[in-house]
Amino acid sequence: MRAIDADACEPYFYEHLDDNAMAGALNAISEMPTIEPQRKKGTWIEQDDSWDGVYYECSACGEPWTTIDGTPWDNGMHFCPNCGAEMEDQDRNEDGNGAVAVLGEGR
Ligand SMILES: [Zn+2]
Repeated sequence: MRAIDADACEPYFYEHLDDNAMAGALNAISEMPTIEPQRKKGTWIEQDDSWDGVYYECSACGEPWTTIDGTPWDNGMHFCPNCGAEMEDQDRNEDGNGAVAVLGEGR
C-alpha cells in the first residue's frame, strides 16, 4: 500500500477526459506521487485546577481531559480524542525525565 496525493489527481483527470475512464483512473493512480502522511503531534500538559484537581490539556488543540485515576498515559491515551494528535511518548522526552509538563498553579 502507498499513500498518494488525491489533489494531484484532479488536473490529471481533466487532462485525460477523452481517455477510457477506467484506464485513465488507473494511470492517474499509478502516476501520482507517493506521500508520507503527516500526523499532528502533541503532548499532555498537566494542569491543576484548585476546584476540580488535576486535569490534562492537549497541547495541539487545548481540549481539557480528566481521568478517574492516573495520567492519560496510564490510561492508554496515546492520541487526543478531540483532534487526533499523536501524543509524544512521555518516556522518550529529549530531556529524559519522562515528566508531564506542569503549568498549573501551586506546584
Ligand atoms: Zn487535541
